[in-house]
Amino acid sequence: MSETSNNTPALIDETELQQQRDNNKLEKRLQKYAGKAMIDFNMIEDGDRIMVCLSGGKDSYAMLDILLKSQQRAPIDFSIIAVNLDQKQPGFPEHILPEYLEQLGVEYRIVEEDTYSIVLDKTPEGKTTCGLCSRLRRGILYKTAIQVGATKIALGHHLDDMVETLFLNMFHGARLKSMPAKLISDDKKNIVIRPLAYCREADVAEYAKIKNYPIIPCNLCGSQENLERQNIKAMLATWDKQSPNRVRNVFKSMQRITPSHLFDTDAFDFKGLTTADADSLEEFDIAFDDEIIVSEQNSLNDVIVLKEIV
Ligand code: SF4
Repeated sequence: MSETSNNTPALIDETELQQQRDNNKLEKRLQKYAGKAMIDFNMIEDGDRIMVCLSGGKDSYAMLDILLKSQQRAPIDFSIIAVNLDQKQPGFPEHILPEYLEQLGVEYRIVEEDTYSIVLDKTPEGKTTCGLCSRLRRGILYKTAIQVGATKIALGHHLDDMVETLFLNMFHGARLKSMPAKLISDDKKNIVIRPLAYCREADVAEYAKIKNYPIIPCNLCGSQENLERQNIKAMLATWDKQSPNRVRNVFKSMQRITPSHLFDTDAFDFKGLTTADADSLEEFDIAFDDEIIVSEQNSLNDVIVLKEIV
């Protein structure tokens, strides 16, 4: 046997092993971030019945996967039911999710409601249909949660969704507001959780690729994602190339708010401020330069946290 033919299998083995190690690290990282979000926000409690909203997109498949693994390891008991809403979009492959869920052995329910026709009928020509479509979907899912006896509704939004929403609200709504990791639904009857709140989209996408999920595209209806969100996605993608920690740092800034250094007079009592309050304040006249040091430290912390994870 030639030297080349002797070496080739070993090389392939090493490449495969390295790939396997990378995949394990990725899975651990996602589990770790999702686990941390679940603990930080007390998302799941003993006895909960979690309704996992499964759209057929990469995020919801990954969330289901991560929750099923957490269920095996958690020191508490909770159950999972996957729910998909078949909105009757033309070309929706009805068989994919039932087959996938049967194979997984997960309890599930497929809800059929023709929101597609309603959206087409109600949306003026040339306008994006996603807003109304999402509102209708949300209402149906909330109703379903009650029917299936769910105590929490899990949605697959990730860190990038949160940061995009923050900028959308700032740029177009002049509000410092993102997308919560845990909230009470607008019908006031359900608690919604987002276990992937700390996970980066790129990690979720990579994981979905490795797992080879049978992805069903959302835009079967032919609609386009909101243009403003697309612009913000492009902005974040540029930042990721220039400075990989920036998007996570923007997210982390939402976890470390200093109302006394912002301008919301409802969030901080500027009018009543006196030197007698000094002992209760944590920050004084800290200016931009010092903040940069904090920001660099955050990046460093991220590296340390990631090293711990991998
Ligand atoms: S792309 Fe189509 S199915 Fe998806 S949210 Fe928009 S209107 Fe609804």
